[in-house]
Amino acid sequence: MHSIPELKADCSKCAALCCVAFSFDKSDEFAIDKETGKACPNLETEGKNCGKCKIHDTLRADGFGGCASYDCNGAGQRLIHEVFDGKSWIDDPTLLPEMMDAFRGMLIVHELLLLLKTANRLPLTALETEKYNKYIAKLCPENGWTQRSLLKLETSDFRVEVGEFLVSLRHHAVALQELMKKSTS
Ligand code: SF4
Repeated sequence: MHSIPELKADCSKCAALCCVAFSFDKSDEFAIDKETGKACPNLETEGKNCGKCKIHDTLRADGFGGCASYDCNGAGQRLIHEVFDGKSWIDDPTLLPEMMDAFRGMLIVHELLLLLKTANRLPLTALETEKYNKYIAKLCPENGWTQRSLLKLETSDFRVEVGEFLVSLRHHAVALQELMKKSTS
């Protein structure tokens, strides 16, 4: 059985990928506009706190609630250590374009793993369990992910296929809701 990696962000093991890769528009959730690929001005770029958010403890109060509630599901730290061998765009800015490309793929991997892990709490049939195991195996390759395999995944129909599988499990959700209603009435 393939082991599922940590699916919760641990920013201490990452390199602020979300603070540079994502764009955001000025809104209730973000106090400023930011382009994709540009480091957020709140990101420390020097000294011992380099790569850390200068307003981490006051994100919501400072108008960055979108950052406070965001979770990459562990994709960032995995990408840094598994695919880039601990290297970071902060130390070597030339790595940024390829890190951003690979980050998109790893976000998909971890999003799908989280959804599948949740779906596995349903009483799956044998056929559904077989499909679940097949998808988990594909998302947890024995030799890990590479930049190339992440790009391939991003441009494939795999996400759609897993999405269709998840939608096909709706009948369990209805059954569970019925059970819960009965147990509380
Ligand atoms: S406000 Fe902080 S957490 Fe949000 S993008 Fe900027 S540096 Fe990152």
